[in-house]
Amino acid sequence: MYFNDNTIIYFNGNFVKAAEANTNLYGQSLHYGYAVFEGIKSYKTENGTKIFKAQEHYDRLRRSAELMHMPFNYTTEELTALSYEVLERNGFSDAYLRPIVICSPNMSLSKGKESYLAIEAWEWSNGYMANKMRITTSSYQRPNPKAFKIEAKVSGHYVNSILACQEAKDAGYDEALVLDGNGFVAESSGANVFYEKDGTLYTPAKGNILPGITRATVLDICKELDIPTQETFFTPDEMRGADAAFFCGTAAEVLALDSLDDVPFTKQWDTTLSATVQKAYQNLVLGKTLEEFKLQLG
Ligand code: PMP
Repeated sequence: MYFNDNTIIYFNGNFVKAAEANTNLYGQSLHYGYAVFEGIKSYKTENGTKIFKAQEHYDRLRRSAELMHMPFNYTTEELTALSYEVLERNGFSDAYLRPIVICSPNMSLSKGKESYLAIEAWEWSNGYMANKMRITTSSYQRPNPKAFKIEAKVSGHYVNSILACQEAKDAGYDEALVLDGNGFVAESSGANVFYEKDGTLYTPAKGNILPGITRATVLDICKELDIPTQETFFTPDEMRGADAAFFCGTAAEVLALDSLDDVPFTKQWDTTLSATVQKAYQNLVLGKTLEEFKLQLG
């Protein structure tokens, strides 16, 4: 479960028990998916509990609200401080934080007049994922960027993610690889994607994806480690049978893929550049610098 009788959340100006918090049933957020949210992780580090990339996540939350014409007046600094307080009040270190901005009761199709912020958190153990994911190309496309603000993290977008993820699971796979309207690889239901071929890492260019904070971090890692990258458009055909591939996202971190449509990625994971990126990411979230990581590599 995500909460128990003692769990505290921040809700609209107060710290309250999750079990006692409630919302109105007559709102656009519930009826139309008109809410914006974030998925953030905190880690137990040598210097105490640290929220990874808090600024980037809260800047994106504020931008998502702005793109949805929602009034939302918290600063990134306030949001970060509230998040640390939620963690502290619950005694959490390794945790997942889920801030969500919902709108006041209103069933019309005009913009929200007032918004409410909830910050929920639950414990998250970052166990090593031994099994690589078997993924399949989805029959669903990602939402048309001319129909949505695709770079915003909006609740309604995730109906598409549920359809794609469930279709993949029903077919016996772990996850879906979802294409854009032009047939190019976009992303997974809840993570970005990279593949590795002949010493270069390829990832879909922006335009049809949620440009993830983890994706940006991976690109930074590659720059620092002199690993060539290309942000480009490619088909699943180009990706199938590549040397390696991974999903990346706040929850997934850097997650190795086994195969796409039953065609395996060919290199042994531990020998790939992707595996080096995975290790570098695991160091960063624990508060270590890339310089320290480079020294370990020798
Ligand atoms: N794409 C989608 C559709 C997502 O839901 C997520 C998770 N927020 C991502 C990509 C990865 O984003 P981030 O690295 O910012 O968590």
